[in-house]
Amino acid sequence: MDGAELIRFDKVVKRFGSNTVLDQLDFSVASGKHVTLIGPSGSGKTTILRLLMTLLKPDEGTIKVGGEYLTHEEKNGKLVPAGEKHIREVRKNIGMVFQQFNLFPNMKVLRNIMEAPVTVLGLPKDEAEQRARELLDLVGLGDRCDAYPTQLSGGQQQRVAIARALAMRPQVLLLDEVTSALDPELVAGVLDVLRDIAHTTDITMLCVTHEMSFARDISDQVLMFDAGRVIESGTPEKIFNEPDNDRTREFLSAVL
Ligand code: ADP
Repeated sequence: MDGAELIRFDKVVKRFGSNTVLDQLDFSVASGKHVTLIGPSGSGKTTILRLLMTLLKPDEGTIKVGGEYLTHEEKNGKLVPAGEKHIREVRKNIGMVFQQFNLFPNMKVLRNIMEAPVTVLGLPKDEAEQRARELLDLVGLGDRCDAYPTQLSGGQQQRVAIARALAMRPQVLLLDEVTSALDPELVAGVLDVLRDIAHTTDITMLCVTHEMSFARDISDQVLMFDAGRVIESGTPEKIFNEPDNDRTREFLSAVL
């Protein structure tokens, strides 16, 4: 499966009122790859992740995940807008970690991670618990199973959110500026966990980040966005060391 196309956007248009945020966007992500979206604020990066999570719907174009249309389904040989059931099925392949950790405040850490595997996937509780404990070990919080989210630092909460996303065994992990709400001293711990996951698992990652050294470290491919279009893409070495596009150069000189 490695290398097969996992995500495909075809001529995707997204508007908010008269603001065309994504303009006939085409791009794809191969299975097992780590792809980072960089570019100025407001260029449409988060919108891409929200479309994949079906928190938004495109105005035009199609999105496929794992070969299945996310936005549409085939009925009687025709492509029609996807129903809720179809969307839920395709979305099971996708996990997302947000800027704000969005943990369930009334549940202990272990329950936070077990909840969706039990209720959505129907996993037996003991299996879900074992998986949750393994994931908490992976993110370095094996000893905090019984804590409530408010008893943890922001960095620890974000690591729980990462474990929670992974508990659904998604094929792709979407990461939306996952360190931007954190105090600076907590950023490194979260990025270290993500580096570890990137280097030791075969999960596909699609990240939006302002952390350029992290992007350089984990990415197979970097996509430079401007005004809803990919204006340049390539390996991190290429994009960070010898970009072709003037806008990429300008952007990088402002953020590096
Ligand atoms: P980025 O992630 O690159 O900073 P976003 O995808 O968040 O960019 O936003 C792209 C543009 O879409 C911005 O101009 C933003 O103001 C606009 N936008 C995003 N979400 C909404 C929304 N729910 N309603 C109206 N405008 C939005």
